[in-house]
Amino acid sequence: MSAPLRTTAVERHDQAVRLVRRSSRRPAVVQPATRQFDRTRSSGGSAPGGRTRRTRRRARSRRPTARVLWAGTALSAVIVSTAVAVVYWKETRTPASHGTGTRDGAAGPGTLPSPSDDPGVSTAPTTASTASPIAVPATGPGTFTAARASGKAVGEGKLVRRYKVLVEDGIDIRPESAAAEISAVLADRRGWTRDGVNSFQLVRSGSYDFLVKIATPGTVDSICGAAGLRTEGKVNCSVGTDVVVNLKRWVRGSPEFDGPIGEYRALIVNHEVGHRIGHGHETCPGPGRPAPAMMQQIKGLKGCVANAWPYDDNGTYLDGPSAP
Ligand SMILES: [Zn+2]
Repeated sequence: MSAPLRTTAVERHDQAVRLVRRSSRRPAVVQPATRQFDRTRSSGGSAPGGRTRRTRRRARSRRPTARVLWAGTALSAVIVSTAVAVVYWKETRTPASHGTGTRDGAAGPGTLPSPSDDPGVSTAPTTASTASPIAVPATGPGTFTAARASGKAVGEGKLVRRYKVLVEDGIDIRPESAAAEISAVLADRRGWTRDGVNSFQLVRSGSYDFLVKIATPGTVDSICGAAGLRTEGKVNCSVGTDVVVNLKRWVRGSPEFDGPIGEYRALIVNHEVGHRIGHGHETCPGPGRPAPAMMQQIKGLKGCVANAWPYDDNGTYLDGPSAP
């Protein structure tokens, strides 16, 4: 489970900083970091030919703080580098010439999956990607970096769907953060695992059943367009083994939806992965009912209530009449 991992990493970091604070009078403990700090300072232009007594006193008075800061930074780097896996590769854009696809956009309200739903992604601690605005370039290079993360299979179903998460190069989202978010959605008890047939496993190497790619609008158009789908820089698509998520939707949500962005992302994942496992579109079953996850909610709710999940808490499939 990644929640304990994250907690442990944070605790370790806090303990480490406390430890450094206690031992900040012992230069040997944090000497490399202090040297780095000094180099950084001197590069800003210290006076040549030696310091005065006054500046030396000032420098001494700054050192404990500097040690804590740099030691904290160095220790964080060590913790992060040991928490992530080692496999790393770049994958060029997959030609989307295989199979048919589905063009999409989607929306829904609610909260992010709880930590207990986390499938055990072996990533570094992550912060919410909504913490600061993420730029949405019109297009990108079309190359992707895969998340250096993997997890246990989640779900009781015998059909284990192995998937990778990739983010287009140049996008300000860590692939590992995206993988943590996506795998939490797929592991949620209201997700597709509730069908008792499908399980999902995040992998970082080897064979896979599908790829979840977060891409700039221009690249989405290229991938989806190669399969004859018109995404117009606006929506997502599922084509062949690619589940292609439009960065614009991932970051800005849908104009049809005013709920939390995390819930909207859950709908994107559930809807597009739903296509991957064989579900077609559905529409609103009646006024006030939950909109099916397989409904194209971005086109309007038709009287339904926005909803991100294929199943409710009791395991009932939130379906609707089939739609084109
Ligand atoms: Zn769709």
